[in-house]
Amino acid sequence: MKKIPELAYNPQSAWERYNAPRERKTMNTLAKRYLDFLTHCKTERETVAYALRFLRHAGYRDGCNDDLVVRPFKGKALFAARRGTLPLDKGLHLISAHTDTPRLDLKQRPLVEQTQVLQAKTHYYGGIRKYQWLARPLALHGVLIRQDGSLLEVTLGENPAEPVFTIADLLPHLAKDHGGQKISEGFAAEKLNIILGHCPAPQGKDKDSPKEPVKQHILELLSKKYRICEEDFISAELQAVPAGPARPVGLDGALLGGYGQDDRICVFTALEALARGPQPAHSSVLVLWDKEEIGSEGSTGAHSRFLDYCLEELVAAWQQRMRLSECLLNSRALSADAAAGLDPDWQELHDKQNAALMGYGPCFSKFTGSRGKYGANDAHAEYVGWIRGVFNSQKIPWQMAECGKVDQGGGGTVALFLAAYGMDVIDMGPPLLSMHSPFELASKADLYATVEAFAAFLAGT
Ligand code: MN
Ligand code: MN
Repeated sequence: MKKIPELAYNPQSAWERYNAPRERKTMNTLAKRYLDFLTHCKTERETVAYALRFLRHAGYRDGCNDDLVVRPFKGKALFAARRGTLPLDKGLHLISAHTDTPRLDLKQRPLVEQTQVLQAKTHYYGGIRKYQWLARPLALHGVLIRQDGSLLEVTLGENPAEPVFTIADLLPHLAKDHGGQKISEGFAAEKLNIILGHCPAPQGKDKDSPKEPVKQHILELLSKKYRICEEDFISAELQAVPAGPARPVGLDGALLGGYGQDDRICVFTALEALARGPQPAHSSVLVLWDKEEIGSEGSTGAHSRFLDYCLEELVAAWQQRMRLSECLLNSRALSADAAAGLDPDWQELHDKQNAALMGYGPCFSKFTGSRGKYGANDAHAEYVGWIRGVFNSQKIPWQMAECGKVDQGGGGTVALFLAAYGMDVIDMGPPLLSMHSPFELASKADLYATVEAFAAFLAGT
């Protein structure tokens, strides 16, 4: 009997789609590697370093003279390309993702001693809910550049043998007035000061006791251990991030918990997809950008000319006498970025019919933006039709969602910067719970489905 095609639309569960024991085994191995990646990549620099190692191992070479090329930029952004069988003017299949995540940056003059405690002042980066960063172990990651140009890489607080850092929170016993304040007013950015030390410098008999003995002591420690002084913080990029490893969550371990999954889950899955399969028809491009969380400005952000420079070089090496505009106008792109999953406790903030369910595969957002689609790239219907055809032909689970109810909030991505080239582009990525928090959650099945989806996109014709 001929099967009657279903008329009503229902998203497909990624758990049901990938339920064969062999697939589950691959899914588990992938999740394990992903958790390890999250544990070790907590800054844009660490993420780009991982991507470089991964791609070089997969045969990608620096420069553009090869069929597999990679080009990092300032340690924070990266371009990689894989040559297809078709000429470049037939267009690229491009995936972008971002390497930066919300966090607490140390100020350039961070050290302040008060009440026998040395703290580091911070300026937060990206959209955080400030209370989530209090009273929890923090690690310091980043770099200091000495005036002789030498670099000190810092990762402190990750090894269980090392001390961690923290921001003290108010005790409930004294929180009577605080409890009545609005969240937006109750947590001041200038109170996000990270505890660095407590022990005063030992006092010599004939020495004057220093005015700030704890700061003096820590500076002596830093000088001895790292050959740095207070002024070196001025040329530093130090980030306070949640300390400790990413871990499976739940009795079944079916959720993956860790910091920075927006957007490292797309970095990881896009790299996996790029390294897999036979030579694609269209040349593949992966571009990793920094600064997405603060508006994509700066030389390593999506608003920069970095992609233009890389493409210029690629065309010169692969196909001279071609108009770059022709290549770009024929290109297709995924702005790969994590989406807001339907939160079981905050369902009222979503339009459930247009929300992403955990475990139902990566999610398209035809548009992002807010309050009447302001600031959005709105993917063309023709393109949405093409891409769901690609996924359906391989039975890859996918869903369509927008971020929350209309007028409730919203957000932007880098899609509009790609769209400016004239290429087709749509936002796509797995849904997360607790997005932008120190411990974000992804579904293991979605991680797996996202690699499948990205690989199908790159191989699509
Ligand atoms: Mn993002
Ligand atoms: Mn974000």
